[in-house]
Amino acid sequence: MTTELLLRDANLWGTGPADVLIRSGRIAEIGHGLQSGEVEELGGKLVIPGLVDGHAHIDKTMWGGPWASHDSAPGLMGKIRGGQERRPEFGIPSADYISALLENMITLGTTHVRTHVDVDTVMGLDAVDAVREAFARHEGRVTGQLVAFPQAGLLIAPGTDKLLEEALRQGVDLIGGLDPAGLENDAVKHLDIVFGLAERYGVGVDIHLHDRGSLGEWQYRLIIERTRALGLRGKVTVSHGFALSDAAPAVRAELLEGLAEAGIAIASIAPPGRAMPLKELAAAGVAMTLGNDGVRDLWSPYGTGCMLDRALLQAQQTGPLDEDIELALHAATYGGARVTGLADYGLEVGDVADLVVVDARNAAEAVCVRPVRSLVLKAGRVVAREGSLV
Ligand SMILES: [Zn+2]
Repeated sequence: MTTELLLRDANLWGTGPADVLIRSGRIAEIGHGLQSGEVEELGGKLVIPGLVDGHAHIDKTMWGGPWASHDSAPGLMGKIRGGQERRPEFGIPSADYISALLENMITLGTTHVRTHVDVDTVMGLDAVDAVREAFARHEGRVTGQLVAFPQAGLLIAPGTDKLLEEALRQGVDLIGGLDPAGLENDAVKHLDIVFGLAERYGVGVDIHLHDRGSLGEWQYRLIIERTRALGLRGKVTVSHGFALSDAAPAVRAELLEGLAEAGIAIASIAPPGRAMPLKELAAAGVAMTLGNDGVRDLWSPYGTGCMLDRALLQAQQTGPLDEDIELALHAATYGGARVTGLADYGLEVGDVADLVVVDARNAAEAVCVRPVRSLVLKAGRVVAREGSLV
């Protein structure tokens, strides 16, 4: 059966006023005076492609559950330990909390999520199961990509490598890594294991790299080298990667060239004062996605899962011009799609109709005001309206 939906009087980001006819989940026609039985009157509202959260940790969330006052010790190790110790108290991971967070994200216009999922020797693959269950509950509303993530370390937590491998065997999409030098104290060995698994299971790689300064820069070079050697162009992401934004101009230029040439992407949560130099990345041709990271979990009480919030954070550190703000929104949409490998994404005829209708006159206003999402479509189907799930 062919399903049709006409978005009448839309304002398409980038091309302006038009009607959009959606047929069988894709944009079939863009024009003026189009007709269809099923019509949504948009009254000139802005239409952007579905927001992509390219760096989440939805397995950790307590969304919809109790409020847990933050009490982790400072630093990465403090958060790792705090998270592991207090998880059982709150029943984390919970498919209910994860599902509640996904619901919120969907109503906020997110149509695709790459989430890191903790795999450790205490809970094994429980978080993978919970995340899968939550995505299954929202089937047809949002799509997801899972990264098997050694949050508690790999070399410093023997046995984790076997669990990661089991996750990949069960079909998890990517292999993760974490501070190969700063946390694991053996960058070469850590990366050998991570890239070895990627090669063996034919999956992409997404590595958390918090290490700063020359230590971080060195690991960028190791990652670039391995990506080139294994021909993993377009399949490797460095998450956070603070050393790049810190680097001296000459080093930064060298790393950007290496990343572009190897086809390595960056995922950033645009933390205040530590956002990526987005204009430089764009000029160098390095793909970047934005993400919410953890949302209301034992690591941080903050966040709602809103990708326009994240675009605003990035924009505030990029510049005040409309084009600066649009570049940030680009990272939250097209950038995320490119990094996560979404096919046929966008606002052209033939693209999958993952669309968000926002009550704004243009993209810059959408990011600055972040109005309620009037409509959210996943593959042509209305999945949320005026902030509520349909
Ligand atoms: Zn993260």
